[in-house]
Amino acid sequence: MSPGLNGCLCGLDPSVRYEGPRAAIATLGGSPTWGLGDRFHEIAADGGHPRVGVHRPPTPYGLGPQVEEYRTPRGRTFLRIPTYGQVVDEDPLLRASEWKTFWILWQAGVRILLVGGTSGSCDWRRGATDDDAVRPGDFVLPHSYLPRDTMPTGLPGTELEFCLPRQVAIMDDPFCPTLAGEIRAESRRVSGFRFRRVHGPEAGVVLNRWLAGNSFESLASCRELELFGRLTGRPVITGDCVSPVLARVCGMHLAYYHVVANWGTGLEPDDPTITLDRLYLETLPRVAATLELALLDRLEEPTACRCRALLRARPPEYARALSPPP
Ligand SMILES: [Zn+2]
Repeated sequence: MSPGLNGCLCGLDPSVRYEGPRAAIATLGGSPTWGLGDRFHEIAADGGHPRVGVHRPPTPYGLGPQVEEYRTPRGRTFLRIPTYGQVVDEDPLLRASEWKTFWILWQAGVRILLVGGTSGSCDWRRGATDDDAVRPGDFVLPHSYLPRDTMPTGLPGTELEFCLPRQVAIMDDPFCPTLAGEIRAESRRVSGFRFRRVHGPEAGVVLNRWLAGNSFESLASCRELELFGRLTGRPVITGDCVSPVLARVCGMHLAYYHVVANWGTGLEPDDPTITLDRLYLETLPRVAATLELALLDRLEEPTACRCRALLRARPPEYARALSPPP
């Protein structure tokens, strides 16, 4: 294979047609349910959400990730793509994993995208008496994000490849506030488990967004984020999340929740991987799966939020100001 589009190892075939399942709601799993391995469907079946199909659709960027199709107790269909669409032993950036995943979701008609993440808090308030701080064990519904990398913002080979001249994504409320309220309410209904504290969007927590790579943040990055939080009064958490811009461009409400697993690398002397492995494998997976299944059965597309209105149409002159297509 030779490097192709944007260094991607895949070619680009815009003629590919989507032939997978359709649904209005989907989840990308993610680190909160990582510890289940490939057994999410067993927990789902126990709770009355049978998996009714497993697909592997081709995309314009190569073979896509696994797409699982479920039926909820109320008879609704939802899709699940494991772990943000990542494929074992494939570099997600080189293999365009986020393009593949969003192309599938967009083609499937998904309007609500439920995503979970975990990772470190860089809150400057780490003393024992700092009760308002965002600490390990807390549940967070972030208010905004900082991008740690250049995020994908369109779907090459489709009408969404570069739509900026025709419509611009305003990134207020990147994580649907209405759905954040629903997630918060549901997080308090999970039986037999209580998060230490739930920080809603009003807490102003900022997600330092990242998706794929072979490392945690460096000590210097965490110190920088800690200082940003102290200066702005907005605590920062680091962690995985798909591109909020791409979700908005694709017309989706991004419902994002985050479980704080540890302090940011180097901010405390503990090795975060020890508590992380315990949390991922023992405590969190069943709680997160239960939470997600309840939401996937119940969430309706919000009408009071601005998620779709914030993808603003622009005057036609803007597109005409660019060179015409060849
Ligand atoms: Zn919304």
